[in-house]
Amino acid sequence: MYRITVIPGDGIGVEVMEAALHVLQALEIEFEFTHAEAGNECFRRCGDTLPEETLKLVRKADATLFGAVTTVPGQKSAIITLRRELDLFANLRPVKSLPGVPCLYPDLDFVIVRENTEDLYVGDEEYTPEGAVAKRIITRTASRRISQFAFQYAQKEGMQKVTAVHKANVLKKTDGIFRDEFYKVASEYPQMEANDYYVDATAMYLITQPQEFQTIVTTNLFGDILSDEAAGLIGGLGLAPSANIGEKNALFEPVHGSAPQIAGKNIANPTAMILTTTLMLKHLNKKQEAQKIEKALQKTLMRGIMTPDLGGTASTMEMAEAIKEEIVKGE
Ligand code: ATP
Ligand code: MG
Repeated sequence: MYRITVIPGDGIGVEVMEAALHVLQALEIEFEFTHAEAGNECFRRCGDTLPEETLKLVRKADATLFGAVTTVPGQKSAIITLRRELDLFANLRPVKSLPGVPCLYPDLDFVIVRENTEDLYVGDEEYTPEGAVAKRIITRTASRRISQFAFQYAQKEGMQKVTAVHKANVLKKTDGIFRDEFYKVASEYPQMEANDYYVDATAMYLITQPQEFQTIVTTNLFGDILSDEAAGLIGGLGLAPSANIGEKNALFEPVHGSAPQIAGKNIANPTAMILTTTLMLKHLNKKQEAQKIEKALQKTLMRGIMTPDLGGTASTMEMAEAIKEEIVKGE
């Protein structure tokens, strides 16, 4: 029995969560789902984007599923607060092509591991007489921890190579430390290949030779930018899942946001959220069940059952229902 805290959030977060839970029902696993609130709708109701009760439920759970929230400027960001409060230091973003989906590269399978706690995202900015300055924090501890996570993950997934991405030629001190710690960790994994690229070169290689990559490990801001670029390679935001992992807790969310423009129409692509549940299942050591969902999703897409963003005509729940049926049918 797994205790899962479910935070649908706002906009299409609510719709893709309903779809993903529908698919999970087809598995023979016992879940206890506890719903919790966060985001802008929650703020309107109770004056807080992340109530204490929600934080408590996330801490207690074996894993948390998070849809998406709308963050209004000036409000506390629920997802950034969760990442910080729970020290979810690793942001895992697999990039895997799906059959039947129009995209630039039909044969990609790599992962971006993004450091989630520091870099420019500590949000330490201030105005100065000349303009403004932002502080970029890079610590040895966090750099080591994220590199260790990347090598462990790569090994577990049967990959042979880990690539560090940085800009140490210009950011000699901060990214110098990141690269340094990466190679120290690499020396503990002599059976794995380790290399490093500058972030600008990586942005190009992602377009010209993305098949080269297996595991990329990088700092927070570069990881944010490169993972959206990578999502573009495989067909867009509607397809990209992610995991936020810490020592004690783990939270799983699609890369996309709440997309208010398409919310409420039952046309959001549930694929990213459904793949997000497979990351959760793998984290809970339910690899076979994760593969069942992946296979059923692939079959559904090959049958041309997909949402309008991929050129199809299926609704969010029609797609979820089709995937559920494929799981029930089995091989
Ligand atoms: P937020 O402020 O919450 O990030 P947003 O409007 O920036 O909301 P995103 O979810 O980041 O929305 O996505 C940007 C655009 O990409 C959306 O407006 C939508 O057109 C498209 N998109 C994102 N996710 C999906 C999805 N699951 N299905 C279909 N289209 C999507
Ligand atoms: Mg957005």
